[in-house]
Amino acid sequence: MACVSYPYEYDAPVSQTLFDRASLVTPGGVNSPVRAFRAVGGTPRFMVSGTGPYLTDADGRDYVDLVCSWGPMILGHAHPEVIEAVQAAVARGTSFGTPGEGEVALAEEIVARIEPVEQVRLVSSGTEATMSAIRLARGFTGRAKVIKFAGCYHGHVDALLAAAGSGVATFGLPDTPGVTGAQAGDTIVLPYNDLDAVHAAFHAHPGEIACVITEASPGNMGVVPPADGFNAGLKAACAKNGALYISDEVMTGFRTSRAGWYGVDGVAPDLMTFGKVMGGGFPAAAFGGRADVMAHLAPAGPVYQAGTLSGNPIATAAGLAQLRLLDDAAYEKVDAVSREIQGLVSAALTKEGVAHRLQAASNMFSVFFTPDEVRDYEDAKKQESFRFTAFFHAMLANGVYLPPSAFESWFVSTAHDERAIERVATALPVAARAAAEATA
Ligand code: PLP
Repeated sequence: MACVSYPYEYDAPVSQTLFDRASLVTPGGVNSPVRAFRAVGGTPRFMVSGTGPYLTDADGRDYVDLVCSWGPMILGHAHPEVIEAVQAAVARGTSFGTPGEGEVALAEEIVARIEPVEQVRLVSSGTEATMSAIRLARGFTGRAKVIKFAGCYHGHVDALLAAAGSGVATFGLPDTPGVTGAQAGDTIVLPYNDLDAVHAAFHAHPGEIACVITEASPGNMGVVPPADGFNAGLKAACAKNGALYISDEVMTGFRTSRAGWYGVDGVAPDLMTFGKVMGGGFPAAAFGGRADVMAHLAPAGPVYQAGTLSGNPIATAAGLAQLRLLDDAAYEKVDAVSREIQGLVSAALTKEGVAHRLQAASNMFSVFFTPDEVRDYEDAKKQESFRFTAFFHAMLANGVYLPPSAFESWFVSTAHDERAIERVATALPVAARAAAEATA
């Protein structure tokens, strides 16, 4: 690692030049909105490489990465065994449009890890996974309505973009133009962690609700774990009313434990969705669950779903290599790193008298700038986000890359070693002071 001195300059001239170029040819200069830094201001850093826990930007500055590509890089960047598997796969050809053994092996790995998943279909993004799971639930039940929760994000599926947490919260878009009333009209949005609201919705729409979809443990309004009994209550309400319970594990899957959040709370969904970690940094995602439900999917059944690049050999090779490395010891390591960083963050903010609340779902965590417990999206929005902005920029200047929004989970990896954690520890007092001194 280059010998550097902190703080870095606020300006990042090479990233700025790239951003200017990008803004001419791409809306807002980015290919996914939160990357544009609009919630925190400043120049988005264009990254050129990643190694272990570090990212290096186009200005030659390196950062301890606490975003990990928004979850997937649970072994850190450029893990040698994942890279080796990818290189071997690339050398054999990049896409065949036929079935291949890699897809079978990845599906077997998922089924072996997650008991409620009897069959699985591979797709290319989390959005595709949730979109397809909803279609399947509607096709299976013959019903139209879907319950989702405010603050839960399930990708940019038309029907699920109502009150969708981080990205939408960051941009303050009340509702997304382009989603028609018809597309959103069958979506019922309820407050998170509120089982009474779920029972009332089933009561108000007898025989009409196809499914309840929820993040297994939400991370898209910051980390807001389900209250005790909430997921079990959802499952019971669905079973009683003939609806399917869909657990979206795109973020938590293969991250919060070997078997994702299901491995933590043991509540068996009818359908589940996956992405992020299972792709090893490539576009691979999946949905799966009860075999009798999955049997309704084409070509076995009538519900259509397809993809030119589904089960792509490189993506499946990367995902399989990553999953095979994720044994119990790996999860213990990620959990320990997460606990240590959480402790450091809390201690630094407490020392500066900054009201905050750290919330965690195994190794996923986030900091809310509020003294109160955050149980739902309304609570999350009450935090003093302006303090996060100051905190974020001070961390960035001191070589730590955080998610550029107060409404996101932080992610760590097995590669976050003592030296990386030491850098986080060194940056925190400065950032905590900046948060304390920030004004709205
Ligand atoms: N579901 C959850 C819980 C997510 O966090 C995300 C993405 O962040 C998605 C679905 C959408 O996944 P993708 O961005 O791969 O489309």
